[in-house]
Amino acid sequence: MMKCGLLGRKLGHSYSPQIHAHLGTYSYDLFEKEPDEVEDFLRNGDFAAINVTIPYKKTVMPYCRLTERAKYMGSVNTIIRQPDGTLLGHNTDYFGFLSMVKKSGLSFSGKKVLILGSGGASATVVAVTEDLGGIPVVISRTGENNYQNLCRHEDGAVLVNATPVGMYPNNGLSPVDLNYFPHLEGVLDLIYNPARTKLLMDADRLGLITSNGLWMLVAQAKEAAEWFLGQKLPDTCIEDVYLKMQKQ
Ligand code: NAP
Repeated sequence: MMKCGLLGRKLGHSYSPQIHAHLGTYSYDLFEKEPDEVEDFLRNGDFAAINVTIPYKKTVMPYCRLTERAKYMGSVNTIIRQPDGTLLGHNTDYFGFLSMVKKSGLSFSGKKVLILGSGGASATVVAVTEDLGGIPVVISRTGENNYQNLCRHEDGAVLVNATPVGMYPNNGLSPVDLNYFPHLEGVLDLIYNPARTKLLMDADRLGLITSNGLWMLVAQAKEAAEWFLGQKLPDTCIEDVYLKMQKQ
C-alpha cells in the first residue's frame, strides 16, 4: 500500500487521517517531528507522499522542487517523492479556499474582503481574493488596519477569519463584533472545530451567508489525494466526504 501521511509538530486533533481514508486506499500516518528532525525525515523518511502542516509549510521548501502554485503561495502543504528520489512541493490550500468561496455562493469581484490575521492561512485568502477580483484588507493586531480602527471598514462585504480565535477549546470567543460592518454579505471562518464558532453564530443571527473551514479542509485534501494518486478525482467527492465528516 502506498505510504502517505501528515508532517507537523503537534497533530493529535488532526481530521486528515479520517478525510484521506474516504479519498483513497493509501495509508495515512501522522509524523510528529521536532524542528531538528525535519531534514532527516524529508531525506530518509519512509513515505511516498505527505501533507505538511504547522509549523513546517515554509521549512520544507528548500528540500523540494516547487510547482508554480507553491512558488506563488510561498508555502508547501503537499510533497510527492519522485521516481528519482527527489521531492516535488505543491500547495493545495489555494484550491481549498477557492472551493470554499465557490461553495458559499459569495461573489468577491470588486468587493472589499476583510481578512482577520496575517499568518499562513491569511496569505492563502489574500491570494485567492486577488485572483477573484476582490479587494483584500488584512486586519492584524499590529498592522496599519487593526482591531482599534475597524470603523474604517464599514464598506466590507465579506469577512474571513484566518485567526485561531474561537477555535476549540476557546469556543466562546469571537475575533470581532460584526456590528462594525453593516454591509456584510457573508462570513467565512477557516476554523472547523467547533463547526459553528461564535463568529459564525453571530453571522447566522444577522442572516448572513456563512461557512466553516471543513469544506476547505476537505477540498485541499482532495487535491492532495490527486497528487498522491496521480489521477483526477471527481469534484463531487468533496461534498461526499464533507457530509461524511460532518456526521462524524
Ligand atoms: P497562525 O499563523 O497561528 O495565526 C494566524 C494569525 O492569527 C496570526 O498571524 C495572528 O495575526 C492572528 N492571531 C493569532 N492569535 C491571535 C489572537 N489571540 N487574537 C487575534 N489574532 C490572533 O495560524 P494559520 O496557520 O494562519 O491558521 C489560522 C486559522 O486558520 C487556524 O484556526 C487554522 O486552524 C485555520 N486553518 C484552516 C484551514 C482549513 O483548511 N480549513 C487551513 C489553514 C488554516 P496578527 O498577529 O497579524 O494579528
